[in-house]
Amino acid sequence: MDETILVAAAWPYANAQIHVGNLTGAYLPADIFARFHRLKGRRVLMVSGSDAHGTPITVRADAENSTPLDVYKGFHKSFLNIFLRCGLTYDLFTSTHTRNHFNVSQNLFLALKGNNYLYTDSEQQWYSPSQSRFLPDRYVEGTCYICGFEGARSDQCDNCGNLLDPNLLINPRSKIDGSSPELRETEHYYLDLGKLQPQIVEFLKERESSWRPNVVRQSLGQILADGLRGRPITRDLDWGIPVPIDGWAGKCLYVWFEAVIGYLSASIEWGKISGDPLAWRDWWHKQDAKAYYFIGKDNIPFHAIIWPAQLLGSGKAFDQLMGLEDCEELVLPTDVPSNEFMNLEGKKISGSRNWAVYVNDFLERYDPDPLRYYLTVNMPESRDTDWDWEEFYKKNNDELVATWGNLVNRVLSFACRHWDNQVPEPGLLNAEDLSLLAAVEQGFQVVGDEMEAVHLRAALNEAMRLAGEVNRYLDQTSPWLTIKTSRQDAARSIYTAIKAIDSLKTLLSPFLPFTCQNLHEYLGYQGTIFGTQGTETIEDDLGEHEVLRYYPEGASGIWEPSKLQPGQKLLTPKPLFKKLDSSIVTDERSRLGVSN
Ligand SMILES: [Zn+2]
Repeated sequence: MDETILVAAAWPYANAQIHVGNLTGAYLPADIFARFHRLKGRRVLMVSGSDAHGTPITVRADAENSTPLDVYKGFHKSFLNIFLRCGLTYDLFTSTHTRNHFNVSQNLFLALKGNNYLYTDSEQQWYSPSQSRFLPDRYVEGTCYICGFEGARSDQCDNCGNLLDPNLLINPRSKIDGSSPELRETEHYYLDLGKLQPQIVEFLKERESSWRPNVVRQSLGQILADGLRGRPITRDLDWGIPVPIDGWAGKCLYVWFEAVIGYLSASIEWGKISGDPLAWRDWWHKQDAKAYYFIGKDNIPFHAIIWPAQLLGSGKAFDQLMGLEDCEELVLPTDVPSNEFMNLEGKKISGSRNWAVYVNDFLERYDPDPLRYYLTVNMPESRDTDWDWEEFYKKNNDELVATWGNLVNRVLSFACRHWDNQVPEPGLLNAEDLSLLAAVEQGFQVVGDEMEAVHLRAALNEAMRLAGEVNRYLDQTSPWLTIKTSRQDAARSIYTAIKAIDSLKTLLSPFLPFTCQNLHEYLGYQGTIFGTQGTETIEDDLGEHEVLRYYPEGASGIWEPSKLQPGQKLLTPKPLFKKLDSSIVTDERSRLGVSN
């Protein structure tokens, strides 16, 4: 009963607008999963935040004649707004630019150092002779020596997903002025992945059978093929978290090293804000605590190899540095259910070419639940998928409206009209009625099992299949006709359908939280299925930062079949979804690549 589940969602870089591919890749599945576990009565902690320090932000600040702080703050604000409107229930969505995160990251660095998993070495770093400074990897692009992709970053290829050795990059060029950079010596701290390899391999082998094949391939498979070598975790950069060692001024912790620590620091910050500073330990120190990391496939090596290495290597020393008395080891990832990519109308989504459906723009014209629906039935869980406006239009009208919305509307309207806004008294249920209710009840097991396994598409498909069963049941019993001959028969099938709808509301609520809440009220319930969301402003010596929070107080949803009783008062329903006109397909396609 007291099971604790950490839902860790990828940290968006605060340098670009969030598009539908980002949402379906990591943030939406995290929210659906978190909501499901909350309904199951588990203690969920869903955390993330803006990655404020990535060199993409300094690149953008340079390009816009702005500062990294202003760039990060602008995007962070828009993330909070989008996530609030999409109903993403982060217990805490914060940022890496907080004193708390600085402290936690520096302590984890020192824990690794104390345990002899860090060493210093000189490496070749890109240096720009024309600007007289070292260039972060992100400032340098070239051709990938593995797949031949021309726009590869010098540390990782976005096309094939492999981590790259900058020395081997073909035809390097500076993103700032296009000049050719050269590699020069500079001293850095390295994470000794070679020394940690046996522990990492053991960790991965224990999880091999339950993880998605692509994640296993890009972690265990790669290690067994190539082995692990030390990776530098500091950079010549002044925007970020200072290396907490004397004589290292002007160098920062590498953004990838510290951003993943955000899962831990955000949990700690959440405890502080909630008035229980040690609460985070229930998710990070209890041996049976589970931790799920929702990310896109481009982030697999960092979450399946490097972050576990950081956790394994810091051991109990992190707790000691945090001043705790009874020190424990930190909980390792249970699963890293990484998604593949979503393309747009057959082409790769690209912010720079404006080939994207941006979430804030989408929400100007449509509601969040149809977005959540389409992104779930089309979620790239095992292969790349495609956002197609024609398909969005059809899924909205043929499935959301026709299968589910209309079912709810005609049953509740009919009950309100003929039984004075009350759930009718059914009398004795017959075999057909009982069989429908049994099928829906079984759905709690089937859909629940899919949710536990993070098969969210399959879970939603099963819930919608059951909605189809209710429609078939109504076609057979046709209460709209039997009302004329037998009011009792009509009452029985309407009661049965309402009860099935009430159960389906629970099964669908992790996916469609806004409309399921409306339905909850039409069904005459007080209160809310889930808790509420809001923003708060937190202050520390780095300044103010706004956070998004989820408040579980008042949530009444439980993952169990309907207990609705005859006589319950109903509200006259309004349609749950809007039917779309086919003209939206051409309108939206003409908007692509044009509007912002
Ligand atoms: Zn490549």
